[in-house]
Amino acid sequence: MRCPRCGTENPERKIVCRKCGARLRATAPASSPVTQETEPELMRRLRWDLVRVGATFAVAAAVAVALGLFVLR
Ligand SMILES: [Zn+2]
Repeated sequence: MRCPRCGTENPERKIVCRKCGARLRATAPASSPVTQETEPELMRRLRWDLVRVGATFAVAAAVAVALGLFVLR
């Protein structure tokens, strides 16, 4: 595995460069699945919030209509 900073060839099992100490294995692949999981989770929570807001408006509208019918009668 070649060091991205100084170009020194390192053994495959090495985590940091033996010459300059630069990190050879990026920690990004380990954290990228987390971002892939949190995005659908966020979308689902956002959609659930919309459903809840819509339900609140529906209940408010139903109460308003019921009150309107009661007052008009
Ligand atoms: Zn290096």
